[in-house]
Amino acid sequence: MRYSVVIPAYNEQEVLPESHKRLRATMDALGEPYELIFVNDGSRDETPRILARLAQEDPHVKVINFSRNFGHQAAVSAGLDRAAGQAIVIIDADLQDPPSLLKTMYDAIVNEGYEQVATRRVTRKGEPPLRSFCARMFYKLINSASDFEMTDGARDYRLMTRKVVDAILSLPEKSRYSKGIFSFVGFRTKWIPYENVERAAGKTKWSFRKLFRYATDGLISFSDLFLKFSRFLCALFFIFFFALAISSVILKSSALAVLGVGFLVGGTVLVSQIVNGKYLEQTFREVKQRPLYIISETERDGEKE
Ligand code: UDP
Ligand code: MG
Repeated sequence: MRYSVVIPAYNEQEVLPESHKRLRATMDALGEPYELIFVNDGSRDETPRILARLAQEDPHVKVINFSRNFGHQAAVSAGLDRAAGQAIVIIDADLQDPPSLLKTMYDAIVNEGYEQVATRRVTRKGEPPLRSFCARMFYKLINSASDFEMTDGARDYRLMTRKVVDAILSLPEKSRYSKGIFSFVGFRTKWIPYENVERAAGKTKWSFRKLFRYATDGLISFSDLFLKFSRFLCALFFIFFFALAISSVILKSSALAVLGVGFLVGGTVLVSQIVNGKYLEQTFREVKQRPLYIISETERDGEKE
């Protein structure tokens, strides 16, 4: 089985030579043919030079250079698009995803028949407390609002068989909230928990702004939380207006005329908002063009196809 390792890298000059060494050693030990696809996501440091050198020294190394910084999700997509292997790994460049787990992941695919093996951090040791807190809150929120299960602490670090990657690539949506996409495609998945490891060198490339955008992307693409919330507000105010108008009739209040007009205008706007929201929801679902289903395998005459 041929392996492809996809490694997104943005300004990772401090750690790249070491992570290449470790990855190479781990993959060599597996004893299968492999390629290391480094995706340079518009780095402004020595990353492109280092990668060019690695590609010269090591025939396993392939490099994709972006024209500017497009973000981690775009880098991963580019790597998956070009991965030629039957088994594909996504791994960070900073050694926070321990390459030593690759052997266990490999065994789960080869010997235990899993279709993918994913990893999950069970601690957030070494992370700023505010970031951990926001992350926990976010997972609570998205899991209560989404039909898809998003595992807290799940990493993008995973080993996937070809059909899982093909399923991921069959989702044409441009907003690539990876946790949602992995959950959407399904497949028989083994989870490997591990203790958080701090980056080997350099610092995190995820600013609070980037994380915030990633989180709202997830909420918008994989739940209708915001639409529901605005519908709820509309319904609330509608009832309020209605009650106000009725009571002004009963009480023969002098404000009757004003309230009556207010109710008519406000009520019409609110109801049409609710209706628009429903259409928007449908349109949004269609626009994403997600496949209706994904087949894991089929059987014919008792044979797997
Ligand atoms: N990364 C990227 N583009 C970006 C941000 C990050 O390709 O815009 C890469 C980065 O080089 C690393 C991985 O994505 O290999 C994860 O980033 P990082 O380690 O900074 O995130 P953290 O582990 O702090 O969540
Ligand atoms: Mg990291």
